Amino acid sequence: MEEINFEIPSDVLDEIQTNIQNIIENFDIPDANKTEVIKKINFMYTQTRQMSMTDPLTRLFNRRHFETEFEREFKRTKRYNNNLSFAIIDIDFFKKINDTYGHSCGDFILKEAAYIIKENFRQTDGVFRYGGEEFAIILTETPKETAQIPLERLRKKIENYDFYFKEQKIKVTVSIGVTSNTVFETASEMFDDADKALYKAKEQGRNRTVSAEVKNG
Ligand code: GH3
Ligand code: MG
Ligand code: MG
Repeated sequence: MEEINFEIPSDVLDEIQTNIQNIIENFDIPDANKTEVIKKINFMYTQTRQMSMTDPLTRLFNRRHFETEFEREFKRTKRYNNNLSFAIIDIDFFKKINDTYGHSCGDFILKEAAYIIKENFRQTDGVFRYGGEEFAIILTETPKETAQIPLERLRKKIENYDFYFKEQKIKVTVSIGVTSNTVFETASEMFDDADKALYKAKEQGRNRTVSAEVKNG
């Protein structure tokens, strides 16, 4: 099934929220119904906003929300000189899972993996479905040494987990690229640094976590 994508920019959504009150005031709604109408519009607004940030399959935050959050976190790190680590998790040979067991099995693995990933990290970390079988993790206030711990814990957890789809046991592994370099000018450069590390993890044989080389500014 095609994913439903609500590409409403956040600032537009915020504007809608701000204007709701004005719109209602300019409509000829009998005073008796006003509260009801405001409630309904607010509910619809909240739903739309939620959908615009969420990936419908895994219920994780989507790429759009990731871009906003990563940009903000990167800027915060630069401003206050905080630690920040960023990781990309990619399921190994995922295409093969789809080809062998079917697309609905692939979807099932994605949902289950997303749940395991989300559970693995602190509530203050950010977990996002970046793309198909790729997840982005923002590890706030986390230096290089500390970032390894939850990432390796997750990698092993998935390696040891038995996924069951229609009574078939399926084994899954993930490769992880992580960076704690914040010397870059932009968040997108930091992203690319983690992506390069992920590429190395794949090249070195998958089912591993690779850290980007330390870069000093
Ligand atoms: P590698 O180990 O190098 O990462 O190999 P891979 O097969 O995981 O990587 P590749 O990029 O070749 O394939 C990714 C696959 O993920 C292909 C695509 O069909 C599948 N995919 C992407 N999104 C979804 C989805 O929402 N559901 C399902 N079932 N499959 C998806
Ligand atoms: Mg991939
Ligand atoms: Mg993959």
